[in-house]
Amino acid sequence: MKCSICGKESVISIPYMNESLCSSHFLEHFESTFMKEVRRQIKIGPKGGTVSVALSGGKDSSVTLFLLHKILSPRKKVKLRAFTVDEGIAGYRDRSIETARELCRSLGVEHTVVSFRDQFETTMDEEVTDLEERTPCAVCGPMRRQLINMAALEQESDYVALGLNLDDMAQSVLMNVARGDVERILRMAPHMRSVNGLVRRVVPLRRLSEREVVTYALLKNIKYDAGWCPYYSQAQRNLFRKIVSEIEEKYPGSKLAMIRLQENLSGAMFISDEPSVGTCKRCGKPSSGELCSVCLNSGEEIA
Ligand code: SF4
Ligand code: ZN
Repeated sequence: MKCSICGKESVISIPYMNESLCSSHFLEHFESTFMKEVRRQIKIGPKGGTVSVALSGGKDSSVTLFLLHKILSPRKKVKLRAFTVDEGIAGYRDRSIETARELCRSLGVEHTVVSFRDQFETTMDEEVTDLEERTPCAVCGPMRRQLINMAALEQESDYVALGLNLDDMAQSVLMNVARGDVERILRMAPHMRSVNGLVRRVVPLRRLSEREVVTYALLKNIKYDAGWCPYYSQAQRNLFRKIVSEIEEKYPGSKLAMIRLQENLSGAMFISDEPSVGTCKRCGKPSSGELCSVCLNSGEEIA
């Protein structure tokens, strides 16, 4: 296949754009799409600010850190930091933490590790021995989200960047549609307003597919951990991953359409209202209900 722009050998075909691109035109497309999202989602005034990256060491967050570093490092008043959440999953997270550390060292970015063990006095390896009806991800997800927010608060950040790509985002939209959970769709990142106690989550990869992210990491020689969480196979998301891929294959552009749906809904619903966030009755962390999802999951009554 030849590049649709210059006729050189292509490295990737992008069905939703109806184009094949050579390496230099692909890099240009990837970086300009990322840049547009950064401009849309991250607003830093003349006084400066701090952006943290939730860096797992996998391809998506590694590419996010690499590109944010490229964009933000020339700006003297903007600090870029990173942290990794250690869920306590032996043989998986320990390896990716090392990869994350190495990337931060090579870029000169401050990096910390925050763990389930320190914050919740448990690990995922311990939690999975007593799941009852729950899936591992249903237990892990709320704790991760809470820890991500805490780590970003500790790093005094205005924004926390997550490495969610187009596929992840489209799956989440569809999962929330299937649950009929409009509120959850409205609370999805990127957060355009700040709410007390919650660091705004941004997702600059949201219009770039998983395949594009892998291709970018390979072309730029970004080292990432390609391991999978051993508990992922039980995730509900797996079914949605399959459905979204099938829809996209038949109707290219559907994943982007799902992102547009989420964006339009959020824009329409919260034009003048601030999203309401209170605090959890038990632990005092930010929560949209009486109990935050971590306390809800622990199954105890409200004290
Ligand atoms: Fe946690 Fe599930 Fe992700 Fe594993 S796949 S780290 S259990 S959310
Ligand atoms: Zn080209």
